[in-house]
Amino acid sequence: MEEVVAERSNLDGVRHILLVLSGKGGVGKSTISTELALSLRHSGKKVGILDVDLCGPSIPRMFKVQDSDVHQCDAGWVPVFVDQEKSISLMSIGFLGPKKNGTVVFQCWAVFPEVGSDHSDGTPFIFAALIKQFVADVAWGELDFLIVDTPPGTSDEHISTVEALRPYKPLGAILVTTPQAVSVGDVRRELTFCKKTGLRVLGIVENMSGFVCPHCSECTNIFSKGGGEELAKHAGVPFLGSVPLDPQLSQSLEEGRDFIQEFPKSSAFPALT
Ligand code: ADP
Repeated sequence: MEEVVAERSNLDGVRHILLVLSGKGGVGKSTISTELALSLRHSGKKVGILDVDLCGPSIPRMFKVQDSDVHQCDAGWVPVFVDQEKSISLMSIGFLGPKKNGTVVFQCWAVFPEVGSDHSDGTPFIFAALIKQFVADVAWGELDFLIVDTPPGTSDEHISTVEALRPYKPLGAILVTTPQAVSVGDVRRELTFCKKTGLRVLGIVENMSGFVCPHCSECTNIFSKGGGEELAKHAGVPFLGSVPLDPQLSQSLEEGRDFIQEFPKSSAFPALT
């Protein structure tokens, strides 16, 4: 593939870029992005999350900063910091545009006037322009890791994201799946997408892999188990771990709390760290 060289940009201070992908919605992609950021923070890293799930941004809510606004500086948008130490910063469409009951009323031409309100070129063009602007215009400063939380599936948005990031040489992608056959089948398509776009697969995470009863600690495999691990073995990519369904994890995400810090004894802790 032809080498694309980056011009000077807002991503110059970012050491590593990785993407989090999933074949479908609701399998825990944003959860893994969030916990990965928290885990990296605990090991002393500065982390940014770029939420390019333009139609269903959930990262602001998971850090309970959904009412924050981004501001402009000379270099572009200043991301939202989730802590005083500024160790995690976020950028999401969820911070832009008018909000109604905490939800963004999505009118991209109001947020990005240069994109224009003429849709005759088709939605893919608009998304491509938005993503390009997202990648170019956020003043991240110095970061050890930038985690890019993508929409579910493999669409034009994904191609636009990979193309916009290519000059900055992303480390690769983490694929998230649940253990069931359908979800695992979707990840197979993600693997093909990565191969076609030249994106390295860093590994597969199997989420919602069994439910550990908070009372008796017995693990029940609500869905089948091991599909993600099998797929990783079959595809020759690393298996990064299984995260069980954990009510404390969903509660923490609901309340914007740091699960990794608060529940080190949880069964989900080992895979998330
Ligand atoms: P996606 O980004 O793939 O659409 P989310 O990360 O938003 O999915 O997760 C969907 C819902 O499932 C969220 O409410 C989240 O709190 C919950 N969830 C995800 N993984 C787990 C888990 N391992 N245990 C408990 N709840 C989870």
